[in-house]
Amino acid sequence: MVDLFNPDRVIYVCSCGADKPISRIYFCRHCLKLRCGNCVTHEVDSHYCPNCLESMPSAEARVKKNRCGSCFDCPSCKHTLSTRASSIQVPSAEDNSKTIPKKVYYLACGFCRWTSRDAGLKDQNVASGGWQEIENPDSKTVASLIEHYRALALHDKMEKEHRKTMRKRPFIQFSDKYTLSALMSKKKTSLPSIGGLNLRSDDSKALEMQPGVAVEEMEELSDDYFTRAVTLPLKCTVSQMLMQPEVQTANTTDLYPRHKHLLVKRSQRCRECEHNLSKPEFNPSSIKFKIQLAAYYHVPNIRLSAEIQLAVNEKTRAVLTLTNPTQNTMHVTLQPGNLTEYKQSGKVELPQAEIIIGPRDDAAEFDDMSENMGFEDDPKIISFRKANKVGVFVDITPLKKHVDIRLPILIRYDYLNTMPQAQADPREPQITWLEHQLIVNFGHA
Ligand SMILES: [Zn+2]
Ligand SMILES: [Zn+2]
Ligand SMILES: [Zn+2]
Ligand SMILES: [Zn+2]
Repeated sequence: MVDLFNPDRVIYVCSCGADKPISRIYFCRHCLKLRCGNCVTHEVDSHYCPNCLESMPSAEARVKKNRCGSCFDCPSCKHTLSTRASSIQVPSAEDNSKTIPKKVYYLACGFCRWTSRDAGLKDQNVASGGWQEIENPDSKTVASLIEHYRALALHDKMEKEHRKTMRKRPFIQFSDKYTLSALMSKKKTSLPSIGGLNLRSDDSKALEMQPGVAVEEMEELSDDYFTRAVTLPLKCTVSQMLMQPEVQTANTTDLYPRHKHLLVKRSQRCRECEHNLSKPEFNPSSIKFKIQLAAYYHVPNIRLSAEIQLAVNEKTRAVLTLTNPTQNTMHVTLQPGNLTEYKQSGKVELPQAEIIIGPRDDAAEFDDMSENMGFEDDPKIISFRKANKVGVFVDITPLKKHVDIRLPILIRYDYLNTMPQAQADPREPQITWLEHQLIVNFGHA
């Protein structure tokens, strides 16, 4: 039963050819095509912290290395750390012989019980922290490398620009003859001079970096290195070490709270027509969307209504449930699909007649409606009908044993175009017939 609700039982083939369940695809109302995560452009709308829900402009997020300034993760188990208050006795300012209570704050993990006191960090006087930042021992090397590659990229860009201007003019200008046009010379004077790499004087020399030198002799390990007993609880796991890549501490006593990673709100855009398919609301605490063109709201949803017992070369009847998500009556026909790679595992016999599915009506379950809702259904084709759902009989004949009987079906339905068309008569409903390929996994024989 659990397997029956598995979204992978019925797969839709996207316009790009990818196989996705209906919950993972969009429907572009403008191109009238299915789009999936692989064939849309993803844009970052906003950065926000998943813990304090504060949003951050992308420039600030880049400076802060995509981490929240005030929230921390447990370095031991990655759970969010919370601030705890406690009071300690400190000597009174007026009378040194007396002690007075003082409120202090420390960080604690509610899951693994790690606290900032375990790392030997001093308690803070304010709840908002002021925790000292861990210093990256290689920060100078990293900064110089970034500078170097920035200079390289600039050099490349200038060379490309230079070639472009050279191509434009067939004649040699006087300044070009001496390799400096007015524009280039202006740019060169504004180039930074980086520790030993001077781009202004000589480019070829400037782009050379000092290569690393191999160490001939290693420091010897102490004698007790092989004999000393290892206390595993005091050693970091690989994931704990990789949480702090700049330090990669080996001992759990040196773990340091990590600033929480920011998350992004993304919007998706159709690559063909460049319309938004999904756009979340800006507010990080909102889970709503401004635009959400999920296929689930536009394309008939098909499911297997019950698990069936299949046997090789034996025709078995299954019921497919078709749901109409739109507010218009839908006319659906099912045909065997033409994806040949799926055809070997079995045969499917689909109803020849057109199936009419009533519109979605959110108040339908409160209405007292007759069983067949006024439709004259052929009991040989229709198993049941309820509001905007119809159960349809299909016959399956598996041809192979011990493999999933995955069969292609082509669904064709009329879609009421909701986008106003330029040339169309606005009084006429804009009906378009759409086709999608599906692959239904009927289980195995
Ligand atoms: Zn796609
Ligand atoms: Zn935060
Ligand atoms: Zn923890
Ligand atoms: Zn589109």
